[in-house]
Amino acid sequence: MRDDNPIDIPVEMKRTKISEIFEPSLIGSEVSVKGWVRTRRGNKNVQFVALNDGSTVRNLQIVFDLSKFSEDSLRAVTTGSSIHVTGRLVESMGKGQSCEVQAETLELYGTADPESYPLQKKGHTLEFLREKAHLRPRTATFGSILRIRSALAFAIHKFFQEKGFFYLNTPLITASDCEGAGAMFQVTTLPLNNLPKTEDGAVDYSKDFFGKPTALTVSGQLEGELGATALGEIYTFGPTFRAENSNTPRHLSEFWMIEPEMAFYDITDNMDLAEEFVKYCISYALENCRHDIEFLAEHFDKELVERLEFVLHNDFVRLTYTEGVEILKASGKKFEFPVDWGTDLQSEHERYLVEEHFKKPVILTDYPREIKAFYMKQNEDGRTVRAMDVLFPKIGEIIGGSEREADYDKLLARIEELGIPMKDMWWYLDTRRFGTVPHSGFGLGFERLVLFVTGMTNIRDVIPFPRTPNNAEF
Ligand code: ATP
Ligand code: MN
Repeated sequence: MRDDNPIDIPVEMKRTKISEIFEPSLIGSEVSVKGWVRTRRGNKNVQFVALNDGSTVRNLQIVFDLSKFSEDSLRAVTTGSSIHVTGRLVESMGKGQSCEVQAETLELYGTADPESYPLQKKGHTLEFLREKAHLRPRTATFGSILRIRSALAFAIHKFFQEKGFFYLNTPLITASDCEGAGAMFQVTTLPLNNLPKTEDGAVDYSKDFFGKPTALTVSGQLEGELGATALGEIYTFGPTFRAENSNTPRHLSEFWMIEPEMAFYDITDNMDLAEEFVKYCISYALENCRHDIEFLAEHFDKELVERLEFVLHNDFVRLTYTEGVEILKASGKKFEFPVDWGTDLQSEHERYLVEEHFKKPVILTDYPREIKAFYMKQNEDGRTVRAMDVLFPKIGEIIGGSEREADYDKLLARIEELGIPMKDMWWYLDTRRFGTVPHSGFGLGFERLVLFVTGMTNIRDVIPFPRTPNNAEF
């Protein structure tokens, strides 16, 4: 077929993605490839282009023989430009690649002026690339991160779907501000420079779009419980918004959360599921994103693969908050924030337990009720609740969850004690009024998981378009 008339290459020859081109059976055939030029180098006889099309971290080498191509025709083939090449795929003599394309035709889609293309050079810092967030997906690093992120999202759906969980979509705009998980972004169509007022001078929200104050959700859990107490086992996977002004490498103002919620699960079932779930995601990434993980390991984090495999092959340590606090106090270590029973653990405490004391992921349970949300199941001791936080090396808290308080009276008492308005809560309390069941759930911050799997250290680098205080440009 093609070999019969090598000169007359069909115009509509099917494009091969670079991720598929390293297939040995393709050697010797004519191929059509399209992508962005990473580099061009060479001499006056031959020019080499490293081509990438985003399908893989691997570049394809294109060889331009200057007896077939004029130097002029290659002048605009610079870093960042986009091209279409056809030619024969042959085994490569050069180091570092198994095959290369001997170019026969070249079509230039778009130039990228070397004077102004921001990613002209290799080896930009991650800080620099954050300023160029609109173009950084074109780099090898961000290509890898984004492919891993996509694979993890798929793994999450696969895990839950194969277990018979149902994907439930909870609202992004909510009227209840009682989740207590963080400050909220208000949603309004009222004119901010001319607010309607009631007689006593307050903002008249009856004139607002929903007739009441609304905000972007900080968690889908409360609605998730409505799903779980009907469908049995559900999970959410969607964006959440927190207006907390915490400029840390682990917090975003807009992040994605996975929140499974399960009827008839107690805290132990909940911990078992959380552990199985994160291990599944990590092992999926190791199996399906090997090149990307190895690339990131080589450039950023030499121990990455080892750390991922370590987490896979070890049981998470389970202990109570009280036991954790005792270990921290006995450690003799000087922490920036002192530890005492009743205080919330800081990231430095969580990481001490995980990285220095146990050297394994840790699940801490039974936290003081005062530092946890109202919906957590109250323990017999009257002081603690059946909470569970999963703590990871380098990350700290990756999952927060609990068995939920299923008893109507106890839940109501706690809501009243905290002064949470009933207008926000009546529908939630109905789950306990009608056919209440023991149930549990947790929330995994998707970007924290992507941080762990990629070995990156700043959460701004694992979401395509990070939203943080003072940053919503791209
Ligand atoms: P932290 O103590 O780290 O601020 P949290 O206790 O406020 O977290 P939860 O309300 O329990 O977090 O949310 C569940 C999960 O969502 C957390 O375990 C974490 O993985 C993730 N998460 C929480 N806040 C953020 C944020 N601002 N950016 C990214 N992920 C977050
Ligand atoms: Mn938490």
